[in-house]
Amino acid sequence: MTTAATTTRPSTAVPFRFFDAHVVRTRALGPSMSRITFSGTGLGDFAAGGRDQRFKLFLPHPGQPAPVVPVEDGDGWFASWRKMDPAVRGIMRSYTVREQRREPDEIDVDFALHHDGGPAARWAARAESGDRVTLLGPVVEDNGGVDFRPPSGTDWVLISGDETALPAVAGILDWLPAGTPAKVWIEVQHAEDMQELHTEADAEITWLVRDGATPGSPRSALLLDDVRATQLPSGTPYAWIAGEAGTVKEMRRHLVRERGFERKAVTFTGYWRLGTCEEQLVEEAVSGTGPKSDD
Ligand SMILES: Cc1cc2nc3c(=O)[nH]c(=O)nc-3n(C[C@H](O)[C@H](O)[C@H](O)COP(=O)(O)OP(=O)(O)OC[C@H]3O[C@@H](n4cnc5c(N)ncnc54)[C@H](O)[C@@H]3O)c2cc1C
Repeated sequence: MTTAATTTRPSTAVPFRFFDAHVVRTRALGPSMSRITFSGTGLGDFAAGGRDQRFKLFLPHPGQPAPVVPVEDGDGWFASWRKMDPAVRGIMRSYTVREQRREPDEIDVDFALHHDGGPAARWAARAESGDRVTLLGPVVEDNGGVDFRPPSGTDWVLISGDETALPAVAGILDWLPAGTPAKVWIEVQHAEDMQELHTEADAEITWLVRDGATPGSPRSALLLDDVRATQLPSGTPYAWIAGEAGTVKEMRRHLVRERGFERKAVTFTGYWRLGTCEEQLVEEAVSGTGPKSDD
């Protein structure tokens, strides 16, 4: 059973539900990043947990006024969405809540405008006030869409990500308790994509600029090279790594094998994979055919 996302659905007991939303405004943050602000009548119930809060974004196909999503909010939504015609169902992508505000209820999402022809990047580059989307997001702040969870006993944190992870890194830095020692690496496309990031942590932030190199390619092993060359603090570390999946895998391998990080003290997420669109990644995850971690 499917419906165009035209109505505000009642809240349910499950921690995630669909929210109809529309673009309020857009703002260029740099040559390759755009901030899109969403609002919607039900958005008061959206309860972002901060840090790297992820959610699913559903976009309409060309010619559709709004994305078509399953009616059910509960655990069954994914099975229902998969059964729908791919040419009709909303285009599903993963994004991070950069900031949530109340009165008016608004959510900022920062989009990396990559040039590989992905529908989400294309949509973001052309988004205008009034454009309709659907968000599948949390209704409780303590939800499974927040992955940054340093165990007790952590002495310092290591954070590494590219521009797709920059919104999450910003949320994590904003959340970290005052004085937390943090070593942070962020890779962006252009120098003008660097941002002022608020934090009360004792954070040392290293910005790395690709300047035209393909992200995730050997030519842009900037993150790995810089982390490899850095003397890390002593004490018990916790690492959070996100961005291009191949780079994330190499970084995790380096930290576990060469730096002696406990595997369970490394939270790692491939946010995208070079040459693979998100539909393929979802199908790999469902069928268990994706690349296996060897650590
Ligand atoms: C939990 C999570 C949170 C995320 N949060 C954000 C966020 O806040 N902001 C954000 O911008 N992205 C974020 N991403 C990444 C985003 O979902 C992917 O980049 C997604 O593939 C973009 O969809 P698309 O339709 O533009 O491209 P797809 O149709 O998925 O891919 C098309 C092609 O583009 C390539 N590609 C995808 N992304 C990039 C990229 N960034 N640079 C270069 N090539 C790329 C793919 O390899 C593929 O070849 C997040 C991902 C996850 C899993």
